[in-house]
Amino acid sequence: MDKLRVCLYNLTGCEGCALKIIEVLVEEGFLKENIEVHGHLVDTDEVLYCDIAFIDGLVATEHDIELVKEIRRRSRYIVAVGACANIAGLLALIDSLGLTKGIEYVYKTRLDVKHFSKPMKLDDVVRVDYRLYGCPPQSNEIKQLITSIMMGKSFRQPDSPVCRECRELGLPCLLKEGKPCLGPVTRAGCRALCIRYGMPCWGCRGLFDEARYDKLVELYRENNIDKQLLVEALKLFLSRSSLTQQVIENK
Ligand code: SF4
Ligand code: SF4
Ligand code: SF4
Repeated sequence: MDKLRVCLYNLTGCEGCALKIIEVLVEEGFLKENIEVHGHLVDTDEVLYCDIAFIDGLVATEHDIELVKEIRRRSRYIVAVGACANIAGLLALIDSLGLTKGIEYVYKTRLDVKHFSKPMKLDDVVRVDYRLYGCPPQSNEIKQLITSIMMGKSFRQPDSPVCRECRELGLPCLLKEGKPCLGPVTRAGCRALCIRYGMPCWGCRGLFDEARYDKLVELYRENNIDKQLLVEALKLFLSRSSLTQQVIENK
């Protein structure tokens, strides 16, 4: 059997997602099986013909746009990896902070911004076959996706809120402590990772399909949490969502 060729591509982002995928490929023994891996962090910057192209980061420059179109032409499956690629995560802060400040805020460094444009998510430019949510995605989901593709099986992710996992784990609700948690509208799958460490959910996995703005606002009202805190929380990862716009417009 031919080896499955996997390529890792990084657009405008921190490359944390690619590192996570490499970690899973190594630790789960995929590289000892029928998989070969290539990419900027491994061996080459070239766009190779491949079975699975994992793409992280935002489409934020002309170079990114040309690169993803070339990747699409040479890849059987494209996987949008992480909050940047799927929901125009952190760097969408540029929408509210401006280009230079937004980049400084996210990366804690100054970058040459003259080639940057308004950041886009991956499927604004090319067709995406699979998605891995999170910042970065969970190891078990990366493993499940690769295994599903290898075995020709479908790959499904939860379509319920983080609150469900939180309650299954018996964790105390942070909204009752006045903390602005976005678990009621965020797609589950991380096993309520942040809440387990006493931090509110920031929405890094994006909205689940049935997420409703009125229910979220009502929960904040019931718990006497200032709506401005909700707006600030939504601006971190979910600034591009229509739900955020609804909350802001109905302030
Ligand atoms: S989703 Fe998070 S970990 Fe992945 S590239 Fe973007 S900022 Fe980095
Ligand atoms: S709002 Fe946050 S802390 Fe409360 S149940 Fe939902 S995920 Fe858990
Ligand atoms: S709790 Fe929320 S912010 Fe934290 S990992 Fe899960 S989805 Fe992301």
